[in-house]
Amino acid sequence: MAKIKAEYIWIDGNSPTPKLRSKTKILDGPVTKLSQIPEWGFDGSSTLQAEGHDSDRAMSPVAFVPDPIRGGDHILVMTEVLYPDGKAHETNKRVNLEKVAKDHEARESWFGIEQEYTFFRGRSPLGWPEGGYPAPQGPFYCGVGADEVFGRDIVEQHMEACLHAGIGISGINAEVMPGQWEFQLGPLGPLEVADQLWIARWLLYRIAENHGVNATLHPKPVQGDWNGAGAHTNFSTKEMRADGGYSVVEAACKKLGEKHEEHVAVYGAYNDMRLTGLHETCSIHDFRYGVSDRGASIRIPLPTVKQGKGYLEDRRPSANMDPYEVCAILIKTVCS
Ligand code: ADP
Ligand code: MN
Ligand code: MN
Ligand code: MN
Repeated sequence: MAKIKAEYIWIDGNSPTPKLRSKTKILDGPVTKLSQIPEWGFDGSSTLQAEGHDSDRAMSPVAFVPDPIRGGDHILVMTEVLYPDGKAHETNKRVNLEKVAKDHEARESWFGIEQEYTFFRGRSPLGWPEGGYPAPQGPFYCGVGADEVFGRDIVEQHMEACLHAGIGISGINAEVMPGQWEFQLGPLGPLEVADQLWIARWLLYRIAENHGVNATLHPKPVQGDWNGAGAHTNFSTKEMRADGGYSVVEAACKKLGEKHEEHVAVYGAYNDMRLTGLHETCSIHDFRYGVSDRGASIRIPLPTVKQGKGYLEDRRPSANMDPYEVCAILIKTVCS
């Protein structure tokens, strides 16, 4: 048995947007099953998850992947936070998704999440002149060349790391605002996509750290005529993917319209700064769905129309959303 390094990752109690934390535990390896990874603990009083007089919080492993940074048999462990008696902590949104996913398992929900993010070096987005602005948006989306894209080395390393870790990454692209990028996960089941998105976010921060860069998920990292950052969530059920599924997609859009406020409430903090009705968004105060419509709340992609089956794209979730909450409410609204 060789010693391995297990990086335990958890979601803290920061509000309104939780942050990722992690620390390393040495285990006897190699590890091949989740049940071989022990529970662990941390000081909850340092993560806004406890008071000082009763500060121990437990981390319970829910998923693990090979650690693409340390290599070898080292692993990354996604955990959920519990009280010492095993009760879920209030900051643990995964327990609810687990329940909702189980209740509607027969619908076979799939998710594809487009995670947008913005690199910063110091106070400026990567590639921006210190204290100033680059040329107006236009050439940067999916651009090429040192004058148009910034941070590609980090993006490539992150994509490679995700593949090595077995994360279901499906692509990347440079975004409309310079220094802004996107990666896509899926389609995957609800718990898989959500656990993997949190691990992929951790990898992004960790790899960018080596370059002296930080990645932010703020929905509107720069005020003004610059695109915000979202996490478009593509969703389908077995019925939507089957012949005649188009009518099920439309019915789902109608249901989503009835619960707009409840959805927006868990779609990420400061999302009102992003969902203005400009920059390829629909106002946070309105709900609209439409075919190919990038100014709608929900877009029905053209292939779904053409094939008469497929999926819908909820464009409302912001980049800083919690996928445990977003996946849970989508399943609940559409499948109930
Ligand atoms: P966009 O044109 O909006 O930029 P992307 O190519 O960035 O689209 O992302 C599309 C997403 O849709 C991907 O994450 C992909 O996994 C997901 N997807 C594809 N098919 C399905 C499906 N049937 N159900 C759910 N998600 C899907
Ligand atoms: Mn996209
Ligand atoms: Mn995008
Ligand atoms: Mn999209």
